[in-house]
Amino acid sequence: MPDVFADLVGQDEAVDTLRRAAASAAAVLRTAHLPAPAVAAADPEYDELAALADDDPAPVTAGPAGDPGAGMTHAWIFTGPPGSGRSVAARAFAAALQCGHGTGCGTCPGCHTTLTGTHADVRLVAPEGLSIGVGEMRALVLRAASTPSGGRWQVVIIEDADRLTEAAGNALLKAIEEPPPRTVFLLCAPSTHPDDVSVTIRSRCRVVPLRQPSAAAVAEVLVRRDGITPDVARWVAAAAQGHVGRARRLAADPQARGRRDAVLAVPRRLTGVGTALDAASALIGAAEAEAEAAVAETDAAERAALQTALGAGGTGRGAAGATRGSAGQLKDLEKRQKSRATRAQRDALDRALVDLAGFYRDALTSALRAPVAPVHTDTAALAEAGGQKWAPEGALRRLEAVLACRAAIEANVKPRIAVEAMMLSLWRG
Ligand SMILES: [Zn+2]
Repeated sequence: MPDVFADLVGQDEAVDTLRRAAASAAAVLRTAHLPAPAVAAADPEYDELAALADDDPAPVTAGPAGDPGAGMTHAWIFTGPPGSGRSVAARAFAAALQCGHGTGCGTCPGCHTTLTGTHADVRLVAPEGLSIGVGEMRALVLRAASTPSGGRWQVVIIEDADRLTEAAGNALLKAIEEPPPRTVFLLCAPSTHPDDVSVTIRSRCRVVPLRQPSAAAVAEVLVRRDGITPDVARWVAAAAQGHVGRARRLAADPQARGRRDAVLAVPRRLTGVGTALDAASALIGAAEAEAEAAVAETDAAERAALQTALGAGGTGRGAAGATRGSAGQLKDLEKRQKSRATRAQRDALDRALVDLAGFYRDALTSALRAPVAPVHTDTAALAEAGGQKWAPEGALRRLEAVLACRAAIEANVKPRIAVEAMMLSLWRG
């Protein structure tokens, strides 16, 4: 039976670190459960372990100066490119911490409930909108300070820690600086660059870098776990550029493949200013439609739930007052939903831009006659023709135009403006 780390594709080093930390965490718990004086005499290792289990959180921290290969600490950052498995790694480690065997066996109730998201002592924050607000963070920090009900650890997983607002970051920092003895914070972020994670938070955490898994490693896991045929697994793994979730989606979802086909048809359509602007509109429109479909169901369910909670249609005494208060709550909900929709749109657009960048990267490597496999095997011939026509310089300029567009949108340039500028650059070369 594969353990909880089996889904971490191509991350041997990180898995090794996490296994050792989990073992060390289990040792801390074992020591804490032993009657102190008798053991102190019998076990020469006791002093060290007792220090680890002490209520003072400081000794638990290996810290930047500690042994980087072993030991347990109370704050971690998982970094890596999107799709490398940051949140998968954080969840697996959380499961190992809650595992009855202390290893992350994958089958005990501790492992199982953590992986299915129902463990009482594991909390997950995933921002729905563009940022994680201070209110959400304060509530989380407060709950994280309680004693673990399962007797092991309180684990807080923060996905997209780069989306913390400054105030939320400060609330988190305070908790990390003075952590309750059994609380573990697991942060996920693209990198430890100060734009992603504040320097002060970074300095309190141990970093687990994840790498972009190779196409071969991604294909292997798709075949083994998802039962995808080797042929399909190979091409989706290459097309997804190391993003496991994206590869799985391409293999399973015809609509996702259709959207990708539409994006990869863009380069040969760019014949003038008019077609470039049309292509920009089409790309934005497709991202909006994809996002709308993704959030529509949740939005409707939330609105219905809120209306029920507010007693919509009530006519009794107090109904007028309730309606006045409910207008504010509905407004809050709409604001949250709008933020989530914007995020979904940006994510959809970014996926399209990554596909497009892959095409121009193929054109560039082909023009350079670099001995590397193409990202998009199905448009490789087209990319090769482009590479010949544009020469390496022209292919590179186009690739850079796509990357500049991603960076501009990340920096809050209006997507339509950024995409139009990119399409014009792709056409002019
Ligand atoms: Zn287990």
